[in-house]
Amino acid sequence: MEDSNLLKKFSLRLEQLEKMPRIDDSKTITEVIKEKGFSRRDFMKFSGLAAASVALGNLGFDLKPAYAHAQILKIRMAKETTTICPYCACGCGIICHTDLVTGKVINTEGDPDHPINEGALCAKGAALFQMINNPNRITKPLYRRPYSYKWEEVTWEWALEQIAKRVKETRDKYFIRLNNKGQEVNRVEAIAHVGSAALDNEECWLIQAMMRALGLVYIEHQARI
Ligand code: SF4
Repeated sequence: MEDSNLLKKFSLRLEQLEKMPRIDDSKTITEVIKEKGFSRRDFMKFSGLAAASVALGNLGFDLKPAYAHAQILKIRMAKETTTICPYCACGCGIICHTDLVTGKVINTEGDPDHPINEGALCAKGAALFQMINNPNRITKPLYRRPYSYKWEEVTWEWALEQIAKRVKETRDKYFIRLNNKGQEVNRVEAIAHVGSAALDNEECWLIQAMMRALGLVYIEHQARI
């Protein structure tokens, strides 16, 4: 960001801070800055406005109301829904805030009413937001042909047809109806299923039911590995 833009933004922030409740009400923020010998440009040397806010906090300004207010503003008009963290078997509760205009998730945070995590999240769960809004997220199927060293984009129709065809072929070829003792087992040991870190409970149940119906016995989930 250019210096002039940063200075403008910082000036605006200072004006806002002027109006905020302070621990020492006898002085304005400008007076305190002057008293401490800081110029506005000095503040720009801090790594951004957040760092400047911390510095102002150190000067005796109570910034808690500002932080709380900024957080509330961000999600005030958003739709709130609850979900479960998809990453591991703990199943921590998460609140998602969705922008009513764009329909996009704008915030995720621990659900304080959830009996498992009571609002707390580990680093992975706390970073869930970036899984939803990530420009690097793969949204199209990729295929690596036999002996090829590169992945190529394919259509969903082609990919789903290939999966169905290969599952059918493998299942027909390796289906085991009776075990060594002559007991009926109706199982397939030549296919395994693993997945996924991004599935919710309901999706896991559906996949599990489908795999069992095919006769699979090797079924795993990322959370247990
Ligand atoms: S990954 Fe972390 S936040 Fe998610 S369910 Fe597991 S412990 Fe909870």
